[in-house]
Amino acid sequence: MRPRSRSEKVIEQFSIVDALVAGLFDGEFSVAQVARRGSLGLGCGDHMDGELVVLDGVFRLFHGDGRMTVLEPRDTLAFAEVVEFVPERSDLLEAVPSLDALVTDVAERVLSPNLFHAVRFTAHFGRISLREAKRQSKPYLPLALAVHDQRENTLHDVTGTLLGFVAPQVFQGISVAGPHFHFVDETGELGGHVLELGQATGELALESFTALTVRLPHSEAYLNADLELDDVDAAIRHAESDHQRLLATDGDDTP
Ligand SMILES: [Zn+2]
Repeated sequence: MRPRSRSEKVIEQFSIVDALVAGLFDGEFSVAQVARRGSLGLGCGDHMDGELVVLDGVFRLFHGDGRMTVLEPRDTLAFAEVVEFVPERSDLLEAVPSLDALVTDVAERVLSPNLFHAVRFTAHFGRISLREAKRQSKPYLPLALAVHDQRENTLHDVTGTLLGFVAPQVFQGISVAGPHFHFVDETGELGGHVLELGQATGELALESFTALTVRLPHSEAYLNADLELDDVDAAIRHAESDHQRLLATDGDDTP
């Protein structure tokens, strides 16, 4: 693939995070539609069922009951964010101790926190904590309540790919401000939304983006939804957070 000029680089997003915060979990975008726009990215399934990982054009959905499905073109997604990933740089990172440390490693290697960055970290993880949202049924609860019903587990000594985006703070609510990463292991069978990690060694690849294209849903539910939401920032931070770490007392390193 030919290198692109900075002005050609666009992140393609389907729906907005505020719509999820408001509890709009219906899949309104087909996998076929999203796949035309990128081959690396993340998202969530119809009925907010599971965590989407898009890697090398394969759409895997990690469900809240532990199953994995490779999605078909006609399957639908409630939210997705994809790019054609052409890394601008790639570095070996050793023994990254935490998710915060990885985010710092990314920040130290990019031009500015005011651009979007796509991240692909192919590594061995001593430990990685994941969550998978469970399929919600109607009437949907707001995201902050829906995420109480989620599967959380920690994998040990696993090789795979962490991928996703780091977005400027001002995009909170449209997208997720700061880091948002999903993971798929090398077998393709295990994965989810990344809550925490430890002892990770591997190749960090980065690409910066100066543009974001957003397609809005157009269902009746979306058209009539009240998106004048209170405490969006708190709701998103809560939904993206490490519940395990918050709930753990100590010794959460034990398998
Ligand atoms: Zn996620």
